[in-house]
Amino acid sequence: MDLFEYQGKQYFSRFDIPVSAGGVALSVDEAVAAADKAGYPVVVKAQVQVGGRGKAGGIKLANDATEVRTHAGSILGMEIKGHVVERVWVEHASDIDEEYYASFTLDRAAKKHLLMLSAKGGVDIEEVAAKDPDAIVKLHVDPVEGLSLEAARRAAVDARIPDKALTGVASILVQLYRCFTEGDCDLAEINPLILKPTGEVHALDAKVSLDVNAEFRHPEWEDFKATEKLDARERLARDKGLQYIGLDGTVGIIANGAGLAMSTLDVVNQVGGSAANFLDIGGGANADLMAGALEVINSDANVRSIFINIFGGITRGEEVAKGIVEALGRVDLRAPIVIRLDGTNAEEGRQILANAGIPESRLVSKPTMLEAAEAAVVIAT
Ligand code: GDP
Ligand code: MN
Repeated sequence: MDLFEYQGKQYFSRFDIPVSAGGVALSVDEAVAAADKAGYPVVVKAQVQVGGRGKAGGIKLANDATEVRTHAGSILGMEIKGHVVERVWVEHASDIDEEYYASFTLDRAAKKHLLMLSAKGGVDIEEVAAKDPDAIVKLHVDPVEGLSLEAARRAAVDARIPDKALTGVASILVQLYRCFTEGDCDLAEINPLILKPTGEVHALDAKVSLDVNAEFRHPEWEDFKATEKLDARERLARDKGLQYIGLDGTVGIIANGAGLAMSTLDVVNQVGGSAANFLDIGGGANADLMAGALEVINSDANVRSIFINIFGGITRGEEVAKGIVEALGRVDLRAPIVIRLDGTNAEEGRQILANAGIPESRLVSKPTMLEAAEAAVVIAT
């Protein structure tokens, strides 16, 4: 779950990472009130979950309330890379001497946490990586050992962070690592991490992505979930406990297992179609889950065919078939189903479908994944 900058900064504060005082605003009046409280000059910042807001005109300095009105008025409602700005964050403006970059992510291949640190911040880190890769220091952190202040300081020295900023940067790295691990983040990034003329080091931006698998131990994430941008389909899927991601195509997809679902998307693409979604109903899916999955797919107006791709292991063919029959009784599906049912109890499942007397125009069964994909794509195009 991606957070907005202002939420990322709230999260940083919990872990004692210094950020500027400010407030979030949904209207021009609220922006002025937040600015009055933060103290002028302020920076008015568009809250959208994409980078490059500065270049797009979504970040403006304001010296007084009149300027806040002007800037908040133009930024609210503005569109940045397809994201409409509904909120601004107004914070006390900082004087900047230098801009650095710091982030923690998980390096799955190495099975370790990865610190990336650079004295060249404030710009796209991808750009730095392409033009000047040596300017980025990468340090693997063993999750059992954690990150010591000494190791953080050494990384800062390696990244050629100047002496006067070393202590500040090292302590923020340790706090950011705590935020990343104890805070259950997939990503915790500060760009820019600034050095002020006063010598203080400070997070001027926040990019935080939370690992939703850890949601059960973070009741405080409820606030973040409330503002999450999900489309109607994704909301419905979440309510039903399904792993669903909405896409733009016309073939609705249901598969058991994330790997099979991904392969299904690939095969649909390969035969010239486009997927309307990713949907993994998981191992051991029962009739109820299948019926729920079909309801979610059915809520997508773009769907013209539904490709159900099941290779049963723990998932049993007859449960899948029962779910389909149940769903057909419960909802009026907007599109026909093409099913490939294989694996555990596939034959029993196919028998249930055959006995249900579903017309061929509503459901066809194909023996292989490729043939089923082809049939689904023909219907959808
Ligand atoms: P992004 O472009 O979406 O990553 O937004 P950032 O929050 O990183 O801001 C982009 C740039 O705006 C920063 O690198 C700074 O150069 C500038 N900026 C943001 N806040 C301030 C501020 O308080 N004072 C000054 N002087 N510049 C700021
Ligand atoms: Mn930034």
